[in-house]
Amino acid sequence: MVCYDRAVLQRRRTAEAPACGAEPAYQAGATRPSRRWERAEHPYAGLVAVLATKHGKLPLIAPALEEAVGLRVEAVAVDTDSLGTFTGDIARPGPPLETAIAKARLGMSTTGHALGLASEGSIGPDPAMPFVTADREIVVLVDDDSGIVVWESHSSWDIVATATSVGAGCDLGAFLAKAGFPEHQLIVRPNVGAIRPIHKGISSVEQLSAAIAECAAVATDGLARVETDLRAHACPSRRAVIAAAAERLAGRIAARCAACGAPGWGRVGVLFGVPCAWCGTEVARPRAEIDGCPACEHRVTRPVVSPEDRADPGECPHCNP
Ligand SMILES: [Zn+2]
Ligand SMILES: [Zn+2]
Repeated sequence: MVCYDRAVLQRRRTAEAPACGAEPAYQAGATRPSRRWERAEHPYAGLVAVLATKHGKLPLIAPALEEAVGLRVEAVAVDTDSLGTFTGDIARPGPPLETAIAKARLGMSTTGHALGLASEGSIGPDPAMPFVTADREIVVLVDDDSGIVVWESHSSWDIVATATSVGAGCDLGAFLAKAGFPEHQLIVRPNVGAIRPIHKGISSVEQLSAAIAECAAVATDGLARVETDLRAHACPSRRAVIAAAAERLAGRIAARCAACGAPGWGRVGVLFGVPCAWCGTEVARPRAEIDGCPACEHRVTRPVVSPEDRADPGECPHCNP
C-alpha cells in the first residue's frame, strides 16, 4: 500500500501541513455545533445518509458505516458523470476532495437529506514512483445540519489499470490476462483522430472484437485504443480500495471529539522537523501528527518520534547538500 501522505510530507517541508480527514467548517467566532453531540449515543445512529452514486458503490460503503455507528445509507442515483469521468470525455472540475463533496451535495439536494456521502477516485502514476499505477480513493461525509465535512482516503497499488493500441484481429491474449478480463471490463475507442465511438463496459470477447473493428476503422492510424474501464462497477480491484477507504471513514466517524462530542476526530495535520544527528539542523521528517475535530478548535499533538530521535545526516540539507 502506498500512503500518499508521504508525498505530502515531501512537498511540505515546514510547519503544520493539512494531511487528511477533516475540513474545519467552523471559522473562528462562528456558531458552535449543536448540543446533540453531548449525548452518549452516536449522533448518527439511526439517521439516513444518501450516497450519490451512479456506479453501484452502495455495497462498498454502506456496511462499514452501518456497523460502526448505525448510520443507514441509501443510494440516490444522480448523474455524477456531470462532475467528470475517467475517460476524459467530461473534464473533472477540481481536486478530488472538492469533487467528492460536490457529488455528495448533488445527492443531498436531489433528496432533501442533510447527510450525504460520496466517493471519488484518482488513478494514475504514483507521485513517488511514476512507473507504478496507484489508486487513491476518497470517501466523504457531508453533514449540513451540523456544518461539518469528514473524509478519509485509502491508496493502493493493487489496481488493475492498463491500456494498449491494436488493429482489428490482433491477438490480445497476453493483454487480456494482464487486464484481468473479463472481471475487469474494458473501454474501446479510436486510437488517433476520431473521438467516437466509445464503447464502455465491455465484458465479452465478442463485444471486444466488434468494438475494436469498429473503432480501428474510423481511427486515422487504423488502430483501436483498449483500456481498463475504471468505473467502480466495472473494476473490482478499484472496488476493494473504495471499501477500504469507507472502512477508514467509518472508524473516523465513530471517533468523537473529547471536547464537544462531534464525530470525525482524527488526523488533520503533520509537524515536521527532526534534528540531524551531526549538526542539529532540522530535517524535513515528520515529528508529530495533529489530531483534530471537524467542528471545534480542539487539537492534540501526538509525537511520532521520541524526543531523543535524530535524523540520518544523509537526509540533512546542511551535512548532505
Ligand atoms: Zn546535519
Ligand atoms: Zn470538537
